[in-house]
Amino acid sequence: MNTRRRFVMLMPWVPLAGVSLLAACSDKAPPPAASPATAPAPAPSPAAVADTTAPTTASAPTLVSPSDPQAQTLGYVPMSSQADATKYKAHAASQNCGNCVLYAGKAGEASGPCPLFAGRLVSAEGWCSAWAKKA
Ligand code: SF4
Repeated sequence: MNTRRRFVMLMPWVPLAGVSLLAACSDKAPPPAASPATAPAPAPSPAAVADTTAPTTASAPTLVSPSDPQAQTLGYVPMSSQADATKYKAHAASQNCGNCVLYAGKAGEASGPCPLFAGRLVSAEGWCSAWAKKA
């Protein structure tokens, strides 16, 4: 094959080669290679899953105040001895949040969660009219 014929045969590829060279010299990053549509997404790591369930703010739960409307409805007091004996005749001095079935605090801690006051803490020495003996 002579040189002229060879040149003519290569001519259709010259514009494409020029575009490729310009793209290679460009500052812009090349577009990402297309991935197959059926490729599965990588599974999140257990740590990443745990991070999504973690609270975004690190605010500590607050103690329930006796002036809280829910506390007043239930007669909650931070010290069992402060319970209104006139209003709550079933109250006994031995009853407190720490020995209530609903108390979710750890033994020995001064306060803990109670489902009746979601997101807050009740005093282990507290009491309310929903008290029920822990088994
Ligand atoms: S339900 Fe039990 S743990 Fe909750 S505030 Fe009343 S006495 Fe305390």
